[in-house]
Amino acid sequence: MTVPDYDVAIVGAGIAAARSPRSSLLMPVSFSLTATSRARVVAQINTLPVLTELARRSVAAYTAIPNGFDNVGCLEVVRGADGKNWIQDRVAVARERKLEHSVLTTKEAQSLAPAFVHDDATGAIYYPNDGTANAKTHYRLGQTYTITTSDDAHTARRVVVATGVWAGQLCPCLASRAVAFAHPYAFANRHAPRTRMAPFARFPDAVMYVRDHGDRIGIGSYNHDPVVVRTAATKVLPTAYTPFQPQFTHTMDDAIRLLPPSTAATFAGRVDAQPAELTMLAAGNVPYGFTGVFTITPDGLPLVGRINLGMYAAIGAGSHAAGSMRVLADLIVADIRGEDAPEADEWLRAALDPCRFHPMADVECESHAVDKYKDIWNKKDQAKVLAAL
Ligand SMILES: Cc1cc2nc3c(=O)[nH]c(=O)nc-3n(C[C@H](O)[C@H](O)[C@H](O)COP(=O)(O)OP(=O)(O)OC[C@H]3O[C@@H](n4cnc5c(N)ncnc54)[C@H](O)[C@@H]3O)c2cc1C
Repeated sequence: MTVPDYDVAIVGAGIAAARSPRSSLLMPVSFSLTATSRARVVAQINTLPVLTELARRSVAAYTAIPNGFDNVGCLEVVRGADGKNWIQDRVAVARERKLEHSVLTTKEAQSLAPAFVHDDATGAIYYPNDGTANAKTHYRLGQTYTITTSDDAHTARRVVVATGVWAGQLCPCLASRAVAFAHPYAFANRHAPRTRMAPFARFPDAVMYVRDHGDRIGIGSYNHDPVVVRTAATKVLPTAYTPFQPQFTHTMDDAIRLLPPSTAATFAGRVDAQPAELTMLAAGNVPYGFTGVFTITPDGLPLVGRINLGMYAAIGAGSHAAGSMRVLADLIVADIRGEDAPEADEWLRAALDPCRFHPMADVECESHAVDKYKDIWNKKDQAKVLAAL
């Protein structure tokens, strides 16, 4: 009998693969290594308890790695008369989830993030324990083996598919479960390094967010009709950072207008990235917009677990990667040993099970995923959570 080269091979090199303990990396022919994962914002408040738990575990894991986590905090900034209700509801959810938080006046929020909070804000809530996870750091620490298959073939007893938006390419059964969406994002021109990074800020009413990348500000918006990217289209994408789509111009302009005028001005003359310009723009000092592509599942939770005997998925975990990958690693180790996986995490394994949508029709899966994109911060579930308090 031939002995496989590896016990476990991980296909992909994003934040999910990087957070797999002692991972091997399998890179099939014709694929270059271009992870979508950069520093990711990690917000622990979520009306879906599974995501709060994964975020909590992820923050603990990232924090244990030198330079793995920037504890910049998260601000949710509200505007208009309804803003007070949002804050009241979030305080209730944060208390129930035992998440540290404080309610701020607009002035206090401005002192934390002067570049993000406009005078027309009516208040904010601040979560001091949130921050950004540095995926590259995790990659270095997580990687133990490298296997390229451009001129060789390797065998593994178990395979983890961690290929982000390309999930459906290797595993067609995941295509309708991991729906890829186009998402507008823009970078301002560069600013001088600051002594303290600003918290990232979310604007629930406008469904947009803004953050400090260290030397430039980035802004993204969900305030548009969702645009699904089909598997056939993702197949030809060399990276999940793609040219700016003109249909997002108004969305991006509207989002930038919500920032204080001096910050909005740093996006002036924004270039809509065209094919072949992205690398040059990313290295330069010109403000530019691009379209990111990432996956969302029908219930907004990642696909993490066993697909088949010896085949596992780790898709859509994003900033929850560390928490999710621990759950997966425990499952794989248990499978290798022929034991049961830890009972205490059974609820998480069930919630993340990549096969949980079976036998939901593809079209229904996509429609639920579209709803999740529109309600990215799970506001609809907030009413249920509050009712249960
Ligand atoms: C602009 C933007 C901002 C975002 N901000 C956030 C955020 O703040 N917080 C958050 O949680 N999420 C965010 N996301 C989503 C986040 O990027 C993804 O959820 C995350 O990158 C997914 O990680 P991953 O490891 O699953 O996939 P990826 O990072 O996409 O990695 C997949 C890897 O698999 C490789 N690959 C694909 N096919 C193959 C193959 N056949 N063989 C070998 N390798 C292959 C790819 O080259 C890639 O390296 C953002 C996305 C975008 C575009």
